[in-house]
Amino acid sequence: MIHIVLHFVIPLAVGLLFYRAHWREAVVIMLLTMVVDADHLLADPIYDPSRCSIGFHPLHTVPAIVVYALLFLGPLVVRSTAPLHERSVLARTAHLAGLGLLIHMGLDAADCVW
Ligand SMILES: [Zn+2]
Repeated sequence: MIHIVLHFVIPLAVGLLFYRAHWREAVVIMLLTMVVDADHLLADPIYDPSRCSIGFHPLHTVPAIVVYALLFLGPLVVRSTAPLHERSVLARTAHLAGLGLLIHMGLDAADCVW
């Protein structure tokens, strides 16, 4: 149960702490990335509390996580003088979706350890 709560609390905290100028947009985009768990529908059983999602579900594998890291980092390394909140909608969305997905994978990975 705490795991599910953290999937909401951590993006909210990150949005408030690091994206204060547009925290609502940041939190909504990060929360929408929870749709990544749709890949659980491919598994049988769909939910198994003892199963580690990382490396099992297709969108929770290392190649997918590399893509999420690129989404997060790409808009930061593309040369621009504008702060992130003044960049294009596409750049902001990619960055925040990547961050939301990385947070999601981190929380899922932590669940594999504990
Ligand atoms: Zn997940």
